[in-house]
Amino acid sequence: MASSTRRTFIEKSVKAGLAIGIGNQLLASCKNSKLNISKPTTGIADFTQKPLAYAYNALEDVIDATTMEIHYTKHAATYLKNVKDAVAELSETQRKEVSIMSLLQNISTYSTKMRNNVGGHYNHELFWQCLRPKQNDNKPDGELLMAIEKSFTSFNDFKLQFSDAAKNRFGSGWAWLYVDANKQLKIGSTPNQDNPLMNVSEIKGAPLLALDVWEHAYYLKYQNKRVDYITNFWQIVNWSFVAQQYQLASK
Ligand code: MN
Repeated sequence: MASSTRRTFIEKSVKAGLAIGIGNQLLASCKNSKLNISKPTTGIADFTQKPLAYAYNALEDVIDATTMEIHYTKHAATYLKNVKDAVAELSETQRKEVSIMSLLQNISTYSTKMRNNVGGHYNHELFWQCLRPKQNDNKPDGELLMAIEKSFTSFNDFKLQFSDAAKNRFGSGWAWLYVDANKQLKIGSTPNQDNPLMNVSEIKGAPLLALDVWEHAYYLKYQNKRVDYITNFWQIVNWSFVAQQYQLASK
């Protein structure tokens, strides 16, 4: 895609509300393009908490309403407040340059406070969009399903591998489906609020699907049973959103 065409595409994507995908689009295209990723963009790439697309009780009985409300209005809101505080502590020159993407991609040059909170903000904004009210036989279709089957043998094998990544993450962290630099689907996990966009991460790429395995995400309903939370998670994955992310990241 020529860079002018790509810019037009990005503008259209933003207008179409594919805001979170802009990060992936930028990541996917930054190798060959002169796009300035440090410019603030909309949606995930800005310093706001987007309204949830569903009610707090809409994900029951996989995730209870109280957990959703506390998670969104307290935990996630605090990451955003703290990342704004961390940005306010930067020099005036640095402040002019910052965007969520530029912070994540250069996170090794910032404070631990910035790392934890910009990660926390990005990860939660992505996570909310990865969820939807539960559906029977919830699974992806089309190109995404084919890519998953090609990379992981079958959708079932994919779920097992992703679930293992989520179960085996010691302590607090996230499990991910992401597209690496070779446009291959990969599964992995990160500690704390790190993510595959960070230059310090062991796994690197464009996130498609995120699962929060911090205890605050499930403890009220599941207590110590992280495995049950992960098993039930599959009923509420928003595969339409993940497919949209895949389209943006894999082109
Ligand atoms: Mn969380």
